[in-house]
Amino acid sequence: MTEPKHGIVLGGGWAGMLAAHVLARHLERVTVVERDVLPDGPRHRKGSPQGRHVHVLWSSGARIVDTLLPGMIDQLLDAGARRIGFHQDLVTLTSHGWQHRFPPRQYALMCTRPFLDWKVRDRVLATGRIALRQRAEILDLVGDAKRVTGLRVRDMDTGAQETLAADLVIDASGRGSRLRHWLSALEVPPLEEDIVDAGIAYATRVYQAPPGAAAGFPAVNVAADHRLREPGRFGVVYPQEDGTWMVTLSCTRGAGLPAHDDDFLPYARTLRHPLVADLIDLAKPLTSVAVSRVGANRRLYPERLDIWPEGLLVLGDALAAFNPIYGHGMSSAARAAAALDTELQRSGTDAGATRRAQQAISATVDDPWIMAASKDVEYVNCRMSATDPRLTGGAVTRQRFSDLISDRSIRSSAVCDVVTDVISLTAPQSELASSGFLSLMHKDRVLPELTEPPLTAEELALVNLTPRSTVSAGGS
Ligand SMILES: Cc1cc2nc3c(=O)[nH]c(=O)nc-3n(C[C@H](O)[C@H](O)[C@H](O)COP(=O)(O)OP(=O)(O)OC[C@H]3O[C@@H](n4cnc5c(N)ncnc54)[C@H](O)[C@@H]3O)c2cc1C
Repeated sequence: MTEPKHGIVLGGGWAGMLAAHVLARHLERVTVVERDVLPDGPRHRKGSPQGRHVHVLWSSGARIVDTLLPGMIDQLLDAGARRIGFHQDLVTLTSHGWQHRFPPRQYALMCTRPFLDWKVRDRVLATGRIALRQRAEILDLVGDAKRVTGLRVRDMDTGAQETLAADLVIDASGRGSRLRHWLSALEVPPLEEDIVDAGIAYATRVYQAPPGAAAGFPAVNVAADHRLREPGRFGVVYPQEDGTWMVTLSCTRGAGLPAHDDDFLPYARTLRHPLVADLIDLAKPLTSVAVSRVGANRRLYPERLDIWPEGLLVLGDALAAFNPIYGHGMSSAARAAAALDTELQRSGTDAGATRRAQQAISATVDDPWIMAASKDVEYVNCRMSATDPRLTGGAVTRQRFSDLISDRSIRSSAVCDVVTDVISLTAPQSELASSGFLSLMHKDRVLPELTEPPLTAEELALVNLTPRSTVSAGGS
């Protein structure tokens, strides 16, 4: 352990808890400052509105969590979380057609977000090395452009304000972070920001899965086809830890969303395939529809500033938030926590260490950022305010190549393996430009196109559905 030092984490969400756990390995004292009361159970809370919608934790993120908290993933699985092998346990209509269910290469953990947060938080706090300051609102940072020395907080019950001193402050206060504002008060030059906003919105209901289907039926995903140049509509039916199905319908700007219970099923019928609607038609709704306007892909570039205050880091959604359809936010935050661990191990909190740590953390968000942003710019009505040259130039060529990969990946097992590694953030995006992958694209056996959802007779029997021919499954 290094010098007796105090680290403060702003926000007790997913990224905040992982960051606090890492800090507790390296610093003597760690405090998490959180506006909410963090529930002692799988319950929703105001500061985590996204918790009402489907969440998947990709295997890359799960592996990091399991390294930081050994045995955590088995604990989640034992408590009911579902491990969905990609693509064996998932029936997906991609933009390019139905995905063959190849043997799993990666997996995603499926469970409700309040359950996941509670279980992980419980393990993190069980070490007894992290102090939790709840019902405390962060007001601003204390220090100057050269060094952050703490922050000011307001007790939400008494209104009392207090300054907390810290050697290291980590902003993990999510999409709503006021970091740019706080930094400008310290006279740090403006942080550059890129925004790619496809106008994503989510509508979710929870259903009781039909008997037998809760455990034995695959997850289902019907995606939009961006090539149609019309607002995209998506739908998923994902199994949860308690035998329910969480059904989320989502859209890009201009496709509307069902705000009322009576509109939910009719909207599901407007997806490119009726499978999602057919499934919810035979399940019992347990909740009313919850709607969220999700927010844009948004990325800050602290690593580009000439001046960055010592003693300050930013990670999680506060640093970069993505279109959630790709399921990358939590894994990206886990990658940032792993980078933080490595950097603290290497340099502690010595002079210059925070700048290097921020560079390492910022590097971890680049792949999920470009994956989400470069796809979203293809949707009609997408709004962009970005300087990333990968988004502003060569869009047509890039999209053609990406379409070619998508088309091959649904029918070609070895290609699908590499693509799944990249999508799950297990392998770098650059893998798709490697000579090995390009030759695989030429050589690998291509299976025939599927014209129906690849459900087995046993699976169809579980939900009392009969095979039906699909309409426009290829989206063209
Ligand atoms: C609809 C939706 C679906 C998603 N689906 C997925 C998915 O399938 N897979 C995936 O990996 N990711 C998904 N994400 C992204 C994921 O939810 C986020 O990436 C993740 O929650 C980021 O964690 P965080 O800790 O950075 O932010 P948050 O989880 O938002 O936590 C921020 C915390 O800071 C607290 N806070 C904020 N401001 C203050 C303040 N001033 N003072 C004190 N406390 C404060 C909040 O109360 C909160 O507890 C989804 C997001 C949305 C919106």
